[in-house]
Amino acid sequence: MEAHVLGFPRIGAGRELKKALENFWKGTGHQDELIRTAKTLKERNWKIQRDQGLSMVAVGDFSLYDQMLDTAFMLGMIPQRFGAAEEADLSTYFRMARGDATANLPAMEMTKWFDTNYHYLVPEFTPQTIIRRSTGKLIEETCHALSLGFRPKPVLIGPLTFTSLAKELNGADRWRFLDDIVRVYCTLLVDLAPLCDWIQIDEPILCTDLPGMAREAFVPALRRLKEAATGSQLLLATYFGALGDNLPLALESGCDGLHLDLVRGAAQLNTVLDILPETMVLSAGLVNGRNVWKNDLRHSKQRLDFLAQRLGEGRVMAASSCSLLHVPVDLWLEKNIDPTIREWLAFAVQKCRETATLAKIAGGCHEPLLRENDAQLAARRSDSRTLRPEVRSRVAGVTEAMQSRTSIFPQRKKKQAAWLKLPLLPTTTIGSFPQTAEIRSIRRQFAAGAMPEARYKAFIRRQIRQVVEEQEKLGLDVLVHGEPERNDMVEYFGQHLEGFYFTENGWVQSYGSRCVKPPIIYGDVARPAPITIDWIRYAQSLTTKPVKGMLTGPVTILCWSFVRDDLSRAEVCQQIALAMRDEVLDLEKARVGIIQIDEAALREGMPLRRREVEAYLRWAVDCFRLTAAGVGDETQIHTHMCYSEFNSIIPWITAMDADVISIEASRSDMKLLRAFQRFDYPNDIGPGIYDIHSPRVPSVAEMVALIRQALAVVPAQRLWINPDCGLKTRQWPETLAALRNLVEAAGLVRSDM
Ligand code: GLN
Ligand code: ZN
Repeated sequence: MEAHVLGFPRIGAGRELKKALENFWKGTGHQDELIRTAKTLKERNWKIQRDQGLSMVAVGDFSLYDQMLDTAFMLGMIPQRFGAAEEADLSTYFRMARGDATANLPAMEMTKWFDTNYHYLVPEFTPQTIIRRSTGKLIEETCHALSLGFRPKPVLIGPLTFTSLAKELNGADRWRFLDDIVRVYCTLLVDLAPLCDWIQIDEPILCTDLPGMAREAFVPALRRLKEAATGSQLLLATYFGALGDNLPLALESGCDGLHLDLVRGAAQLNTVLDILPETMVLSAGLVNGRNVWKNDLRHSKQRLDFLAQRLGEGRVMAASSCSLLHVPVDLWLEKNIDPTIREWLAFAVQKCRETATLAKIAGGCHEPLLRENDAQLAARRSDSRTLRPEVRSRVAGVTEAMQSRTSIFPQRKKKQAAWLKLPLLPTTTIGSFPQTAEIRSIRRQFAAGAMPEARYKAFIRRQIRQVVEEQEKLGLDVLVHGEPERNDMVEYFGQHLEGFYFTENGWVQSYGSRCVKPPIIYGDVARPAPITIDWIRYAQSLTTKPVKGMLTGPVTILCWSFVRDDLSRAEVCQQIALAMRDEVLDLEKARVGIIQIDEAALREGMPLRRREVEAYLRWAVDCFRLTAAGVGDETQIHTHMCYSEFNSIIPWITAMDADVISIEASRSDMKLLRAFQRFDYPNDIGPGIYDIHSPRVPSVAEMVALIRQALAVVPAQRLWINPDCGLKTRQWPETLAALRNLVEAAGLVRSDM
């Protein structure tokens, strides 16, 4: 039985790619070094897949920045501002990804890859776009793998997924390009086909509600690909859910194999089996690529045996549910892990092994191995940390009243204005300030036990003092403490809550060179002691301006963690909300009058299918309110959300009832804001006017223009002025320059009113 994974993490177990990229960008590393690192990582990843027993290795899943960007690049879709497509090279590639500060060019937009925490660059269609094949990367990599004796399975983002996820500018119509796109894919497939047995075409878009155009275009496009790939076999890969009403499209695609996500889309299996054409192989995505729990081998084996019996052994493959991009690389790097918890987990390397094992034991009798796995799963279920009666009973006692503020927004606003006395268009930031190498190194030393607590705390206090002083000098109205004590907005809170496990090396790529280390929520959640109070109180003691207390919301903590799979997500979220509610109330008691509860991930946690969305939003919004609503009217609750397609959920954002929301809007020219207007969003709002993802410093004039655009949509009484997101990845000089411009821009507009 074939065994394969849909893709492997590319960042490297030691985040080698991150380091090589950042050295290259900084100019301290040569391009050759970067290319060499990339080559080593690819080879290592193939070797892992083969050594763990997989029968094919994924090729083309590797990227120097992002696979959607790679695809756009391959199709010659270089937005005009980055120069001629014929001359596009590595520097063009990175300028597309990161913008160009010297040439004042904004980067391409970035957004979430389906409901994951991975971000892709959004390809741009304009009426001028010309599609043409422009790089041979995939062919080269396939030959490279072959030359080393691997059995390559090239992986491509499918044309429908690619086209659907791109954006249309200046009146361009994406579907007019599909024909050309498919033509390029075809030429590529003609070249690839002689090199491999299987080619994987990723069409996760099939697990979403497809627009009519995509539905119509799907089968003809895939059939053309199939024809071009003569000599090899096409595996149509679907993941992140079930196919639902798109199933007929997949079955009529003419592809030789269909990959199903049998973790998220388990329920579709029987329907598929009933109508799967005899010519099609089924790739069973049984090993969860979105989570870190050890596979239930007995259960998976039963599935495989059942499939083999229905379809015949030769028509079944064992696979991961989706690419392993979304899980950490190797559990064996966790040197200090609690050995009990280790027994419950599997990372990418282990998941390769699980997948290979499943293929090996399918059809046979392997009781000792299955018993060992049974015992590990049972040990997890009966561990006392996974069930705390006091947490369960608190969740059971949550009431509607606990989720509602005392008064409605207009009344609260009056009471808040009375003590805050802010000017019109108040200026603020989203929370974090630059995290210098020094901050990171001191935090690391402290975490490693190499620095006494008193010295660490004194250091952090100095950072807070500096950040407060800088903000006062800049003339910002609502200050923050700068978050120097936090490596990551979720990890920091998780580390102070019970029920979370923190890996040492469990890095997962978020975008480009950025990685996150999601905590693993394995047990019931509780807050043993206050978390942020001392830092915020200290920051407030340094200034007469208001300082915002800064927290991460329950939905975001949930979405950016690996969540236990033995309890509903809603219930885990309520547990977190109750713990964070206690923190909010402690802040209020400490006289912190403004509290920001970041819900960066609320939108991304949304199910991909329309009919599942409402149930999610209901509990997610309730959990936010449960966290926030215990405070008095005078306390101003802020929330912040990152890059999101908010349009359809604004009524739900309204229901969160935060006094102020800040959103990312600068890269999209306030387009987002107009959606808030369309739904009559009633509370205060701060659309970001400074794109913090790039080192470029926007000019005063540019920010004034954005503020004026915002004012056309939001009345001045309800408009706040702030950057798009936190500043922790920026350097100090550009941060100060940009914030100086931001404050000046707000002042200019204010003085005109
Ligand atoms: N308060 C956080 C920060 O400024 C928010 C970051 C985010 O939403 N991603 O870093
Ligand atoms: Zn943000």
